[in-house]
Amino acid sequence: MSSKRNEAAAAAARQPPTCLAGFSTSLLPPHHEVSVDYEVRCKTCGDEHFHISGFPIVAPDPSPYFAIAPGETIWRPAHSLRCAHCGAGGRVFDARTSGYDGVLNGGCSYESGETDEQDVEGLFKITIALAYNVELSELLEAAQEAEVGIADLFDSFTISGEPVNGGRSIELDYECA
Ligand SMILES: [Zn+2]
Repeated sequence: MSSKRNEAAAAAARQPPTCLAGFSTSLLPPHHEVSVDYEVRCKTCGDEHFHISGFPIVAPDPSPYFAIAPGETIWRPAHSLRCAHCGAGGRVFDARTSGYDGVLNGGCSYESGETDEQDVEGLFKITIALAYNVELSELLEAAQEAEVGIADLFDSFTISGEPVNGGRSIELDYECA
């Protein structure tokens, strides 16, 4: 169901955030008033199929992670997308630098991987969902101070991957404020 964007989300939707600058993006109808959603394509060749990378870790027993059972794989940030056709792409999310807390407060509270970056198995069609719950006036002031566009101050970031040849879909969801 689509709805009308709030003031902040409407303003943020005018330009994609910096982390999507390396991709070709199409704005999707909002699924919620705070949301700005993009369909992502390769900027170089236009292909819509991507590899998603992250820093996997297998949850120990007992699992210290919310809603993750022992033995399950967690795909820690940072995350990159790489075109399945031509290999172009780059980082789309880094919990240490992305979004409201990443830009303004030195990072959001997720464990980031440092070594052994790997691709999630499969090829995916990608949607990126951003949310803007902050008042527009506050967002504008913070963006000006930090010298970023307001779209960079999203307070949540979701990568959704729809598998191309069957298999499991993936959703990587982060609160960034
Ligand atoms: Zn490509």
